[in-house]
Amino acid sequence: MCKYKNCPKAEEEYKKTGYCIFHCDKEKFTEKEIKKFKDEFWKYFEEQEKDKIVKKLDFVGFEFPKTFSFDDGLKFKKLLDFRDVVFNDDLSFVDAVFNGGVDFTTAGFNGKVDFQGAIFRVGAIFRWVTFSCEARFLDATFECDAHFEMAKFKDKSNFRMAKFNGGAIFAETSFRGTDFEMTNFAKDAEFKKVVFEDDAKFRYTTFNGDTNFNETKFYRSVEFVGHSMKITVSMYGSRIDNWDENQVFLKNSHVNFSDSNFEHPEKVQFVNVDLSKASFLHCKDIDKIGRFEKIKWAQKGKFSKRKAIYDEIKTDKPYVYIADKPYEYDVIANKPYEFIAEIYRKLRLNYEHNLRFSEAGDFYIGEMEMRRKNVKLFGREIKNRILNLISRNISLIAWYRNFSYYGENYFLPVVWMFAITLGFAFYYYSPADFFTGFDIHGINASNFLESWKTSIMILFQMPPEQMTFSIFIERILGVLFVALFVLALRRKFKKGGE
Ligand SMILES: [Zn+2]
Repeated sequence: MCKYKNCPKAEEEYKKTGYCIFHCDKEKFTEKEIKKFKDEFWKYFEEQEKDKIVKKLDFVGFEFPKTFSFDDGLKFKKLLDFRDVVFNDDLSFVDAVFNGGVDFTTAGFNGKVDFQGAIFRVGAIFRWVTFSCEARFLDATFECDAHFEMAKFKDKSNFRMAKFNGGAIFAETSFRGTDFEMTNFAKDAEFKKVVFEDDAKFRYTTFNGDTNFNETKFYRSVEFVGHSMKITVSMYGSRIDNWDENQVFLKNSHVNFSDSNFEHPEKVQFVNVDLSKASFLHCKDIDKIGRFEKIKWAQKGKFSKRKAIYDEIKTDKPYVYIADKPYEYDVIANKPYEFIAEIYRKLRLNYEHNLRFSEAGDFYIGEMEMRRKNVKLFGREIKNRILNLISRNISLIAWYRNFSYYGENYFLPVVWMFAITLGFAFYYYSPADFFTGFDIHGINASNFLESWKTSIMILFQMPPEQMTFSIFIERILGVLFVALFVLALRRKFKKGGE
């Protein structure tokens, strides 16, 4: 009798082990015994494949001895149930075709395993699998969802050029050195709470669906690298240049780095990557990230566009919480302006450190915008919408924005100075009419120009001898706007020109 639960060969006991030849311990197996195992296994395999009633091949809990392997290019018709299986040697499924699905839940691969070129048609389940040695999925095709939840890759793994045509679920998986170069994720990719214990490469990877790195830990280097390649095609004797753009996260891909943790941010690279839909909320140490190059950020602003982060864009829209889309949190109830300002501050530091002041300026504006919107009254959030709108537009920081766009625009103070001198010119021309209304035909042009000249002189601290309250006010405004102008200009030059 085999003690293994639901053993298909329950009545056969092998050498008083208490188990059948499939389930017994293979540690002390001799070569002769291994041959016997192989013969019995393939006999069982063929019987099961041929049997029309049998829908799935039951290998649950089998222990495979050393030197056992499958032939390359095998085509499996039925569902293969490899749950709890232990493979004690290197295993090859090169070019295998799994037509009926395959389930490796809680299996253990004690040797290398190679799925290069394999095709998974209707189900690929690697939940809680332990890969003790190298695992290769090079050029494999998953036509279905690929489940790797909580799998443990204890050695290198390689998914180069693999094609995930369904969803790819790597939630809580742990990797030790992994390579997703040129891998294509056609649908959503889930890397939530994944632990990358060693280097992770995402070079020329394409993520087409939503991508989630929420609470993921990157302990070593990680590269997100895209490319823009010029491909020259000749057609009817003429050459056509085609640009092949890969920005890693393609235009439909939301990507979530919130709460993720880069242990060695200096080893993190984002090169030629589209981050216009990337969330970085509560992501640590982004100020120290090694490279942000050729990044496509989101844009904000009606007239003059500035680079913005997606977390800010999201606060403009009334998102609702959707359980299986964790990046869309409820921002109506909780607009995390303070935390978004923090991301901007870190990005600004990062860009300034790399002497990229134009973008740093944009992030500074973003930071100030977040502070302006985060209005508080006696330390408490203003819940009333109208009151909130008013207070965020009359605060000191709001005026700093209106007067010089947070010191980033030196042209704005000039416009204000022009308007102020003009306004005061009308007043000096005829203070009474200023309040009762002018008849434009009654204004004498040369006399008015004279008043304007006086007004300009006052603004630049050259007042006439008599002192009035309006002159006093205009002089104060003069000091303020000249200072704002000089500060903005200084900022521009200090950056070393753009
Ligand atoms: Zn058994």
